[in-house]
Amino acid sequence: MTELERKRDRAPVPSQWDYAPAPEARDLVQLRERYGHFVGGEWLEPKETYATIDPSTEEPLAEVGQATNEEVDLAVRAARDAFTNGWSDISPAERAKYLFRIARILQERSREFAVLESLNGGKPIRESRDVDLPLSAAHFFYYAGWADKLEYAFPNRKPRPVGVAGQIVPWNFPLLMLSWKIAPALAAGNTVVLKPAETTPLSALLFCDVVRQAELPPGVVNIVTGDGRTGAGLVKHEGVDKIAFTGSTEVGKAIHRELAGTGKRLTLELGGKAANVIFDDAALDQAVEGIVNGIYFNQGHVCCAGSRLLVQESISEPLIGKLKRRLETLRVGDPLDKNTDVGAINSRQQLDKIKELVASGEEEGAEIYQPPCRLPEKGYWFAPTVFTNVAQSYRIAQEEIFGPVLSVLTFRTPDEAVEKANNTPYGLSAGVWTEKGSRILAMAQRLRAGVVWANTYNRFDPASPFGGYKESGYGREGGRHGLEPYLEFE
Ligand code: NAP
Ligand code: MG
Repeated sequence: MTELERKRDRAPVPSQWDYAPAPEARDLVQLRERYGHFVGGEWLEPKETYATIDPSTEEPLAEVGQATNEEVDLAVRAARDAFTNGWSDISPAERAKYLFRIARILQERSREFAVLESLNGGKPIRESRDVDLPLSAAHFFYYAGWADKLEYAFPNRKPRPVGVAGQIVPWNFPLLMLSWKIAPALAAGNTVVLKPAETTPLSALLFCDVVRQAELPPGVVNIVTGDGRTGAGLVKHEGVDKIAFTGSTEVGKAIHRELAGTGKRLTLELGGKAANVIFDDAALDQAVEGIVNGIYFNQGHVCCAGSRLLVQESISEPLIGKLKRRLETLRVGDPLDKNTDVGAINSRQQLDKIKELVASGEEEGAEIYQPPCRLPEKGYWFAPTVFTNVAQSYRIAQEEIFGPVLSVLTFRTPDEAVEKANNTPYGLSAGVWTEKGSRILAMAQRLRAGVVWANTYNRFDPASPFGGYKESGYGREGGRHGLEPYLEFE
C-alpha cells in the first residue's frame, strides 16, 4: 500500500448518504388497463389474462394476455402470410428503411420506454435510460445497415431468409433482448413471433406501437404474451422455421430436446457464472468499479454478470476492503429515482431463489457481508452481498444466482486463475484486470468464455458478437455473426 492509499484508507466514509429524491416522471407512460396479443398488425382480444405488476411495490400495472396454442397459431400464420406475401421479396434497401425508422422512433420515445422498463422490471431508471434504450436503438441502426449488404457480408454464398422465427426472451433486459432478436431477423428478411417473459411484457407491447408508427407491413412482427406454456407452444409449432431462445439453461436444454430431429434451427443464449479475475498489478480503484458494475448492475440479473471474483491472494485484503467500503455507498431503492444504483428484484420467485442460494452459502461456511441499508417494506428487495472464504465446491460458486451476490475466491498464479475460472459448466463471459497487455492476451486465449473483457466489464456493442460455450449455449448474437442464424445459403 502506498502512503497515499494508506491515508485514503483511513478517510472516514460518510455514514449517511442523504440525497433528495429525484424521481423520473411516471406519467410519461400511459398504461392501458388491458392488453391483447399483437397479431397481423392488430390487437387480438386474449382469451385468458393475468396481471403484470411493479416488482418494487407489488402493485398491479395492467392485465395482459396468456396466449393459448390457438392464439400462438394465429400469430405464426400471420407471420407466414407476411413472409410469403411481400416481406421476403421487398428490396433489401426498403427493409433497411423500416429498421432505421424503428431505431429513430425508439430514440424519440426513449424516456417513455425507459420509465416503462423500470416500472415493470424493477431496474434503476439510470440503467434503462443510459444502457437499455441506447443499446436497443443501436441494434436497430446497426442491423439496418446490413439489410442491403448481405451479399457482401457473406460473399459467394447467396444468403436468403429462413422464414418465420419464433423468439423467446427473458425478463432481465426485456426491450434490449427483443431488439437483439428482432433487428437481425428482420434485416435478413424473416418475419417473427416473439414472446416476452411472463413478468415483463409491457415494453414489448409498447414496441407494437412503434411497429405501427414505422408502418411496418402487418404480420412482420407479432407479439404474444404469456408464461412458459406459451413459449412451449411456440417452440412446438410446425409453422416456425427457427427458434431463438434466451433464458435459463434448464429450459434451453428442454427446447433442444424438443427440437432434435425436427430440422428447425435453434440458437440458445443461456446462463453463466463468469469469473472476474483481478491480478496483483491491476489498478485497484478501477477494478473495484468494474467488480461493482460486473455484479450489481441490474441487480445481478445478468447472464454475463461477473459473479465469481477471482483475486490474486497478495492483494485480496486491500481489494476486499475497498470493495466493502464501495458497497456502503450503493443506494438501493425506488427504481424510478435517478439516484438509485440497485433497484428491485424482478419477481418473488427470483427473490426466493436468491435467498435460498445465499442461505446455502452461509450453511456451507462462506463469510457473508452486506452493507447497512434499509430496504423498502413492500416489493422484492435484496441487499448487495459479498461472500468471502468461498470454496469452489460451494453452490454459490457453482450455480447461477442471478442476483446481487458476489462470491470471492483467491488464486496465487495465472495457471491457478485459469483453472478456477474455467471450472464451471458455463462459458459465457469473463473479465481480466491487469496492467500487462501480454497477460490480457494470454488470459483471453485460455479462458473458455464467449466474451472476455479486459480492464472493464459489461460493455456491449451491436457490432460485437455475444454468446457462449458449453452450457451457456451456442450461436452468436450481434455483429455479422448475428445474421447467420437467420439466413440460409445456397
Ligand atoms: P426461463 O424460464 O428460462 O425464461 C426465459 C423465457 O423462456 C421466458 O420468456 C419464459 O417464460 C420462457 N419459457 C419458460 N419455460 C419455457 C418452455 N418450457 N418453453 C419455452 N419457453 C419457456 O428463465 P426464468 O424463469 O425467467 O429465470 C430462471 C433462471 O434463468 C434465472 O434464475 C437465471 O438463472 C436464468 N436466466 C438467464 C437469462 C440469460 O440471459 N441467460 C435470463 C433470464 C434468466 P416465463 O417468463 O413465463 O418463464
Ligand atoms: Mg420461468
